[in-house]
Amino acid sequence: MPGIEYKGSCVCGQTTYTAHDLNDISYCHCDQCRKMTGHYMAAAQVSRDRIQIKGKIKWFYTHEGSRHGFCDNCGANMFWQNDNKATISVTAGSLEDSKSLKTWHHIFIEEKGCYYNINSNEPQSRGYGDSKID
Ligand SMILES: [Zn+2]
Ligand SMILES: [Zn+2]
Repeated sequence: MPGIEYKGSCVCGQTTYTAHDLNDISYCHCDQCRKMTGHYMAAAQVSRDRIQIKGKIKWFYTHEGSRHGFCDNCGANMFWQNDNKATISVTAGSLEDSKSLKTWHHIFIEEKGCYYNINSNEPQSRGYGDSKID
């Protein structure tokens, strides 16, 4: 596959992926992502046909059509997917090397925790914000 290649893995090494042409990093401050991650979600979107995943994933639906994917063995939070979109998001922390990826935007900012602030120079949105790929 052409494009910049990214590799990712969980903590135990059972679940891995290879992806091409990731979007920059989205930070989701919604209640579900904050509970799922312990802080807020940092993830990069990719077209589903641009990623190959190996290993056993446990999926959990936080609400209809929206699910988080974890390594079935170590529990690392690695993926987020909306069933209605042709994309999947990989967590920034699961990347072996984030290469040239930068912050793209912060989403669902009205649900953010009150114990931290968002860098005011970075784009912010109340909902999903603009999507670069659908
Ligand atoms: Zn694992
Ligand atoms: Zn979220």
